[in-house]
Amino acid sequence: MANLGIYSNTIEVLEKFNFSFQKKYGQNFLIDTHILENIIEGANITKDDCVLEIGPGIGTMTQYLCESARMVIAVEIDKNLIPILNETLKDYDNKIIINEDVLKVDINALAKEYNNGRPIKVVANLPYYITTPIIMGLFESHVPLDSITVMVQKEVADRMQVGPGTKDYGALSLAVQYYAKPSVLMVVSANCFIPRPNVDSAVIKLTCHESNPISVNNEQFMFTLIRASFNQRRKTLVNGLTNAGIDGVTKERVYEALEKMDLSPTIRGEALTLSDFAKLSDLLEVK
Ligand code: SAM
Repeated sequence: MANLGIYSNTIEVLEKFNFSFQKKYGQNFLIDTHILENIIEGANITKDDCVLEIGPGIGTMTQYLCESARMVIAVEIDKNLIPILNETLKDYDNKIIINEDVLKVDINALAKEYNNGRPIKVVANLPYYITTPIIMGLFESHVPLDSITVMVQKEVADRMQVGPGTKDYGALSLAVQYYAKPSVLMVVSANCFIPRPNVDSAVIKLTCHESNPISVNNEQFMFTLIRASFNQRRKTLVNGLTNAGIDGVTKERVYEALEKMDLSPTIRGEALTLSDFAKLSDLLEVK
């Protein structure tokens, strides 16, 4: 089958199947062979790997993944793309195509079935309208993961990798960094897609920690505190946390915890590191 990373081949397939793009599914297909090669190289895909691709589209990146990986699981929501994928991927017997919403798929079960429960690699040019729920869903459901290498909106990639004190720092930065080490592999121009998106994109690799560098008694409670702190990011941490109505989190207890941590009583959430939030969580948790 012809390489779909080449613009004319993509156009030929779209015309043959009379495909119309669905904006609601965030469909922007890659048409740049260099970017595709760099993603596969950056994701470090080998013939030992089982890869989950979210949103294969017409199969452009799937072709590259099938060439490099042992097994590719491609989950696509748009039923109109399934006959196209059956055609563009017909030369490969190391793939399965699942017509489902990825947010509803039991990825743990897939990892068990196709990779004996060993860590899988996720590679995707993500639909931008659900980037955060997809990434958080993968982490929070404790899918065995080696790494996640994904194309996202450039601004979202920036948010994932920054630290305290920057305007982009927030709940997403902390969640991603709790589970993984982020690194931006490349910035991608809007011209590398059809149709052209309105934003610049970036490929970010999240290499999952083998063992968690931060220890906290109650992960869920820590993330409740983090979300509450950034929901009202212009307020002090004390006000942000106490306005959220979290059980047992009173002004007195937050002041006391800040004092124990040697932090100012007027500090804002955006100044705290991940390990500060872990300590705060251990101090405020009501057992
Ligand atoms: N991988 C292709 C490429 O790089 O050319 C297509 C990428 S396009 C940005 C995103 C793809 O995700 C589309 O094919 C879209 O239909 C699919 N998609 C959108 N929402 C989805 C969901 N909830 N579950 C699975 N696939 C989804």
